[in-house]
Amino acid sequence: MELTMFGNLAYKLIEELYLYNRNFCSTDYDKALAEIHAILPLKIHNFTGDEHFNGWMIPPKWDLVRGQIRKDGKVIFEATHPLHVIGLSKPFSGFVSKEELQKHLHCDARFPDAIPYHFRQNYRPWERDWGFCVPKQFFDTLEEGIYQVDILTNESEGYLKIAEHTHVGANPETFVLVAHLDHGGMANDDLAGVAVAVEIFHHLLPQHTKFTYRLVLVQEIIGSAYYLGKIPHILDHVLESCFLEMLGSNTPLALQHSYGGRGRMEQILSNLLKNQTGFREGPFRSIICNDEMVWESYGIPMSSLSRFPYPEYHCDKDNPSIITHEALHDSVKVFLDTIEQLEKSTLMRKKFEGVLSVANPQYNLYIDPGQSAFGLHVDESQQKLRLLMDTLPIVPKERFIEQIAEELQIPLSLTLNYLQKWQEKGLVELI
Ligand SMILES: [Zn+2]
Repeated sequence: MELTMFGNLAYKLIEELYLYNRNFCSTDYDKALAEIHAILPLKIHNFTGDEHFNGWMIPPKWDLVRGQIRKDGKVIFEATHPLHVIGLSKPFSGFVSKEELQKHLHCDARFPDAIPYHFRQNYRPWERDWGFCVPKQFFDTLEEGIYQVDILTNESEGYLKIAEHTHVGANPETFVLVAHLDHGGMANDDLAGVAVAVEIFHHLLPQHTKFTYRLVLVQEIIGSAYYLGKIPHILDHVLESCFLEMLGSNTPLALQHSYGGRGRMEQILSNLLKNQTGFREGPFRSIICNDEMVWESYGIPMSSLSRFPYPEYHCDKDNPSIITHEALHDSVKVFLDTIEQLEKSTLMRKKFEGVLSVANPQYNLYIDPGQSAFGLHVDESQQKLRLLMDTLPIVPKERFIEQIAEELQIPLSLTLNYLQKWQEKGLVELI
């Protein structure tokens, strides 16, 4: 059935990896990368714990060995889910009062039976506490008395692994898809984005493309910060990026545009999705907050496609039961359709700077705007061409002619025709 043509690989990956305790630096994060690598070859950029950057600190490698609460010698709570012990909890072993214990228990404010996601310590490794995330129901039933807490962790010098897969096309101009692989114990946020992206690139493997496409899997925000800030020339030829987030739940797709909405990929996504039921779109940071400010800070437009909001956000109810094949299928398909349209688009590379005397016979590209004093008037299409002539010195060095045509409201064929003359003079390249 056409409906589930895509999404099967993504679904399988989510089922396999969602219970991995994918803290920023952990054995399970590495295992998850190894499993993805078996499907799609990954290049790993590895940063060591002593590499501080812009105030960011790589947390220690952290694996939970055991998390237990006992009362009167009996185990009353055992960590069996990645969310049960807070991320990067300090190890702790000792006896505490009920009041003291409750200071270290975190509950979900929405669902009495849910285990919430406590992530902040991964970003603030200098400010660590011990703690559990427990259902409110459990919290409320605790009686007065003395409790024995046992949190045992395995810790060592941290590192940050950023994974990258590049589908090399005939041209170096690159579109980047980004997703975050941290958030252990959850399926939609953002394992679903990772899984959709892996399936897209797996599908591209045997294809020859005009442009280059790159997948980057990060630890949310901090991964992008190191990747973009510390690897020289990593952004050479990158035209645009898109963040893939929470793409598996049965909630409508939402497109958040880049700052200023200036990318070709986001325009195509918008056109493909605008008639879909429930679809919505909005400007920069109006729908969701991920890594877009990091990419934009280096001048790369980053849009974001997500299915945010969804009710099970940031708790253990975000599991494969809320992931649908249809959602994954539609997410994979819209990106593959977008890539197909990008491949059919024509990119202009400018080979000149400044303003040319285009009337010079050397170029002979001058478009006469008419001169009313002499009674010389030109038709509308010539006026549009004149606008195009005047705008070419101003547009970015690389721009799709579909975008130029749309922005100036000039028919695409007219735009292409005129730009081909510029190409003949060696002033632009059309690819
Ligand atoms: Zn999240």
